[in-house]
Amino acid sequence: MPQQNKGMKNQYDVVVIGAGIGGLTCGAFLAKEGMSVLIAEQQSKPGGYCTSFLRNGFTFNVGFDFFVGAERGGMFDKLLDELGLKDEMQFVDLAPPSRIAGSDYNLPLTPLEDLAAELKKMFPGDVQNIDTFFQDCKAVTSEILALAEPSPDLLGIGGKIGVMIKFLFKSPNVKKYGGQSYREALKKYFKEPKLRAILASLDHYDPGWAATEPMKVVGFPAFQYPRGGSQALADVFSNGVKKHGGELALKSTITKIMVENGKAVGVQLGDGSRVNARYVVSNVDARQTFLQLIGEKYLTSKFVKELNNERLSAPVLLVSLGVDMDLKAMGFDGTSIVYNRSDNVDDVWGGDPEKCSLWIMMHSLRDPSHAPAGKATVQLMTQFPYNYMDYWKREMNGTRGKEYSEIKDALASKLIVAAEEVVPQLSKHIVCKDIATPLTFERYTSNSEGACYGWFPGPKGKLRSQKTPIKNLYQAGHWTFPGGSIFAVALSGRNAARLVLKDTR
Ligand SMILES: Cc1cc2nc3c(=O)[nH]c(=O)nc-3n(C[C@H](O)[C@H](O)[C@H](O)COP(=O)(O)OP(=O)(O)OC[C@H]3O[C@@H](n4cnc5c(N)ncnc54)[C@H](O)[C@@H]3O)c2cc1C
Repeated sequence: MPQQNKGMKNQYDVVVIGAGIGGLTCGAFLAKEGMSVLIAEQQSKPGGYCTSFLRNGFTFNVGFDFFVGAERGGMFDKLLDELGLKDEMQFVDLAPPSRIAGSDYNLPLTPLEDLAAELKKMFPGDVQNIDTFFQDCKAVTSEILALAEPSPDLLGIGGKIGVMIKFLFKSPNVKKYGGQSYREALKKYFKEPKLRAILASLDHYDPGWAATEPMKVVGFPAFQYPRGGSQALADVFSNGVKKHGGELALKSTITKIMVENGKAVGVQLGDGSRVNARYVVSNVDARQTFLQLIGEKYLTSKFVKELNNERLSAPVLLVSLGVDMDLKAMGFDGTSIVYNRSDNVDDVWGGDPEKCSLWIMMHSLRDPSHAPAGKATVQLMTQFPYNYMDYWKREMNGTRGKEYSEIKDALASKLIVAAEEVVPQLSKHIVCKDIATPLTFERYTSNSEGACYGWFPGPKGKLRSQKTPIKNLYQAGHWTFPGGSIFAVALSGRNAARLVLKDTR
């Protein structure tokens, strides 16, 4: 059990549970507005899924590859500016962020015009469909941005009607694609199965997601990588919290949200101590927030049932390797590679170690500080089931024993062999190895089943509110509006702060 931080006061305006990017952004905005803020984080460092870890002199992100909105004037750039943090963060522009490679192709993800040109050469029977699809991707991005800003939670009845009108009459592409899964859309709009498989690997999203999810990402104009890796980004936000007078308590697990008369009034920590607050913002897993920290007795049975039955986004298997290789001399430049071993959409992110696509990341080429001189980082990632081999043969009490290690070692070896088709001789140059399973992701962040992006964003998914059934309790992060990704949770954190501020005025 981590030690509790003894330096906290017993009363704050706001306690934020969890120092993911959503929680940190929320805390930084509230502190900037003069509120007394405590962010309680169970781990020894801030960032949640946006952290990095060190092994033998190598720095690895916990899966993060690239994000959007940080170009000059982009929404993330503006958000950093509002917090006075713009000069504290540097980004590497990625053009393209990734390439999609298969047995007989190697295509740049961006610019979309280049990808479209290559695909049209490969699939002449789908020329018109390819043009339409990429135009629609860009349109989906701008329509979604227009719909999501400002957050519907912050609008009055007139504003909400305005959003509805915008959706009905000015968002034809969101309407066209949002109601179908990406798999269905690909089948409907493209003739060639192989083309569908290539397009299914545009981003590391399950093809069962609403088609608008991958489409909106590729429609962004630019992609960035934070210099220093994902931890650097989280550290900038935590410095922002402190710069504005907020407090960040690490190694501080919240075990309960205190409720009085249907209203959140504070939190309880792992050691039983209590901290009072006028508002509580939860940046943690939604099931944990409501079923454990709040408790079913404060919730309707319908709400509890929904929490238990709702589908989660998929977790991943991540193999992080420190290697003594000169990747640059081998022709790599830090562009990630999505390596497709199958021409079937269902294999792409299907969790079969023999067939699934591999996301190959070489971040030390983007930022040499990630590896000792003369060495490099290589990470292999693929979507992988939480319940693989009877929950990875973990013990009844959740601990992981010899069988667990054997399963993950065997899987990692298979993925490394597969990756050698892209990075020859990889297995002979490994000087350090770390394997993270869905259980690892869950253990470190308490995200249910290691879900990477919160709830599963399927077609016709519901618009989630950051308000909760408990008064003065709000949510921030990827379990609520507008969804998963660093960009989205930062917006979510700012929205949560605005909701609290609106309430106080
Ligand atoms: C493998 C992987 C790859 C990804 N790749 C990308 C990418 O390339 N680009 C991108 O934009 N997004 C990516 N994402 C998604 C993105 O990282 C997440 O959507 C986002 O970081 C989630 O942020 P969050 O604020 O919701 O909280 P989280 O990151 O989930 O953080 C929650 C925090 O709460 C803490 N906590 C939990 N319970 C408690 C408690 N009881 N008390 C105190 N603290 C608690 C946790 O320790 C954690 O620090 C990826 C995610 C994964 C897992």
